[in-house]
Amino acid sequence: SATLYIVPTPIGNLDDITQRAIQTLAAVDWIAAEDTRHSQKLLQHFSISTRTLSLHDHNEDKRVAMLCQRLKDGESVALISDAGTPLISDPGFVLVRACREQGIDVVALPGACAAITALSGSGLPTDRFLFEGFLPVKVQARNEILQRLQDATCTTVYYEAPRRIVATLQDIHVLLPDRHLVLAKEISKTFEAYVSGNAEDILAWLDAEPARQKGEFVLMVSPAVKDKQSVPGEALSLLSALCEELP
Ligand code: SAM
Repeated sequence: SATLYIVPTPIGNLDDITQRAIQTLAAVDWIAAEDTRHSQKLLQHFSISTRTLSLHDHNEDKRVAMLCQRLKDGESVALISDAGTPLISDPGFVLVRACREQGIDVVALPGACAAITALSGSGLPTDRFLFEGFLPVKVQARNEILQRLQDATCTTVYYEAPRRIVATLQDIHVLLPDRHLVLAKEISKTFEAYVSGNAEDILAWLDAEPARQKGEFVLMVSPAVKDKQSVPGEALSLLSALCEELP
């Protein structure tokens, strides 16, 4: 059978596509794209005339059987999303899982990813991190996830839509008013910015110019600082009881 290629595309600056990505997109029989019209602009820019078909959250299950069959028949496929690395808060998981299960070769190309780029430019610890993708829309589910920040032992990375960035920062302000955050905005684009401070500082920055609330955001939250107060009370009293027993 032929190979499924996972091909990252730029997250802003078109020069961030790799030579291997361009060669692969030009060479395969099909490009499966999240939004074919959107991707057509990118493909035209690089003079790639490969046929496209759509693969998005709403048709992925149906499309997978058809794509696996084409791959088995010897037709190669490249999967792309609207921007960045497919499968990272983007469609493709069902397809890759099916290919792996059916013994179809999968080759994932390295490339642009907003979460990784934001993290590497943030100044926050990078030795360990938790990528949470988009926060849920429903209030209770959101709060449950934000609560976990209280005891976070590593940097947490979120994707956030412009229409929700202010609300999310307000929620974090209530929960963790002193926590250090970094907001990465419009990475690799004209108005790229990294803003750091607590939630209130970042809200003030967003508020200063309405245009600042537009665009694409990665929100990163530093780990909780461990101090004496953060040791649970139960553990402390157990510790002192144990100390009393020592000779
Ligand atoms: N698969 C993509 C990737 O590899 O980064 C992410 C797709 S997800 C649907 C889109 C989200 O990624 C945006 O809402 C934003 O949070 C983040 N994002 C994408 N491009 C970005 C950019 N240039 N600057 C900042 N954030 C970006």
